[in-house]
Amino acid sequence: MPGENHVLLEVRNLRKYFPIRRGAFGTVKKTVKAVDRVSFFINKGETFGLVGESGSGKTTTGRLILRAMEPTEGEVIYHLDGQDPFDLMKLSKKELWEFRKYAQMIFQDPYSSLNPRMTVRDIIAEPLIATKSLQKEALSQRIRETARKCQVSIEFLRRYPHAFSGGQRQRIGIARALVLNPPFIVCDEPVSALDVSIQAQILNLLGDLQEEFNLTYLFIAHDLSVVEHICDRVGVMYLGRLFEMAVTKELFFHPRHPYTEALMSAIPAADPLITMDPIKLTGEIPSPINPPEGCTFHPRCIYAQPICSQDIPEWKEYSPGHYAACHFAGELTLKGTAR
Ligand code: SF4
Repeated sequence: MPGENHVLLEVRNLRKYFPIRRGAFGTVKKTVKAVDRVSFFINKGETFGLVGESGSGKTTTGRLILRAMEPTEGEVIYHLDGQDPFDLMKLSKKELWEFRKYAQMIFQDPYSSLNPRMTVRDIIAEPLIATKSLQKEALSQRIRETARKCQVSIEFLRRYPHAFSGGQRQRIGIARALVLNPPFIVCDEPVSALDVSIQAQILNLLGDLQEEFNLTYLFIAHDLSVVEHICDRVGVMYLGRLFEMAVTKELFFHPRHPYTEALMSAIPAADPLITMDPIKLTGEIPSPINPPEGCTFHPRCIYAQPICSQDIPEWKEYSPGHYAACHFAGELTLKGTAR
């Protein structure tokens, strides 16, 4: 891990287990491990991507590190400028309200994440009012400034969300996340519900805002081609666990985990002359209620050996900053993207 001055947050051994209760007495029968022993860090000013199929635990991880959901176990240490490092999980309710000024979230669905009964102005103002950050005049000024920076026209502030397209709504959602000037934003699949042409505009906006305000992003996505272009480092999740983590270029050119290789082989190449053989993942992602023994990827892995169904692979650093959890990560030569 780089020097502590560069790190914004460290996630240590994070777990979120959901008990499944049955019967009249609500006896716990099974446990769903939505997030299991996840550890990573995010540097100040970088975009860290979390990718994986639906049900891999990436959104739950994003919510846990904002404490929008209580974890079963684990620490999330924030290193905010001008403050001593603190564990988010140990904050009181009152301290948690204060913390909201430093970390916000952009949601996936710009249609359901905005209250249809509130005007655009009230939606953007909500975090300022909830945290009692500014009074009347200053509050109005901040709303106008933030709207302008997020490409939301001032004349739209009196209107309601239904009057806008998906791209405009997502800009309003970004303005709401940014109005408190937080240094850290969790972007939960912010472009996956948008048309491709609008996706590029929103990604450019996020990039411009990051540069202007030195923002740090956790970017959650299932689309690897988006992640490849905007993330500095990437973590790959599967069934609640991190399988691989590296600097983006290194991950895309030299993946060490078979699951990462399979995900990459499915990315359509921009050059039609480049043909790639997609690696077919057999079967669906297993049920998190009954995950496979050993490496949870073994029923779908084309490189699986007998040890894979018995022992859980260790999370190890194979080259500086490149981590993977596979028994054969040091031996396999896997294909990255041919770009
Ligand atoms: Fe495949 Fe085995 Fe590696 Fe798991 S540990 S990814 S099953 S080779």
